[in-house]
Amino acid sequence: DPERCIVFVQSHVAEHSELNWLLNAHGVTPLGELERQTQFKDKTQRQESVSAGLLNYPVLQAADVLLYKASLVPVGEDQVQHLELMREIARRWNARYGDHYFPEPQPLLTKTKRVLGLDGKAKMSKSLGNTIGLFESPEAIWEKLRPAATDPARKTRKDPGTPEICNIFTLHHGFSPPDTVAEVAQKCRTAGWGCLDCKRVLADNMIAALKPMRERAEALKRDPAGVLARLRAGADKARALAHRTITEVRDRMGFLKTNADSDHRHL
Ligand code: SF4
Repeated sequence: DPERCIVFVQSHVAEHSELNWLLNAHGVTPLGELERQTQFKDKTQRQESVSAGLLNYPVLQAADVLLYKASLVPVGEDQVQHLELMREIARRWNARYGDHYFPEPQPLLTKTKRVLGLDGKAKMSKSLGNTIGLFESPEAIWEKLRPAATDPARKTRKDPGTPEICNIFTLHHGFSPPDTVAEVAQKCRTAGWGCLDCKRVLADNMIAALKPMRERAEALKRDPAGVLARLRAGADKARALAHRTITEVRDRMGFLKTNADSDHRHL
């Protein structure tokens, strides 16, 4: 809701790439830390050619967060390592250029902090084809959930299962009310129902939860000019905040002031 938060496209605010570059300064972001990031290592193993941008991506993420001096970042568990690096970058920058200037951002995790893909192996990823899109039709959601991986110990309907190791149970936490989650756990442990019954309940709750989002997305798709206008207005608000930070950062790092910096002082 653009009335409640600033919604904008990152590339509309050039200060993101400038802070990214400045955070690469000597003594702030060590190369070894970037090479140790799990996501970088995973992707380099899967790709033949790796761009420098992939290595540097966590620094851009740090710039995205630090530019607005955010203290909490809503992420999945797989991003916790990037946030640790972000705090390290903030600490090192603060030590060199300004004590406590950047807050050290902390992760804001939900109960479903790690949702695996429908294959139950890796996290949801479009390139692995194991996702359910937020705007998919009810039929597509059911077609994808039906064959999704469950607890492999439940070979037949009579075998009891362990809900805690089943990704369908994790998804129930995200979409089903607490009493349904408790019922799922009980029926799974006692083989009180089959996995298909369990998935049908999940599908119904998922479809109901996603319906208002899908309808809103469809309405927005019919008004591309309105969407662009709101994104541009959001970028104007974000740029005002970002410009203030980048001006202070340049100043603390010892760059010569530009006319724009002087204008900023009079804002
Ligand atoms: S009953 Fe539900 S929670 Fe248990 S293994 Fe099957 S799908 Fe997973």
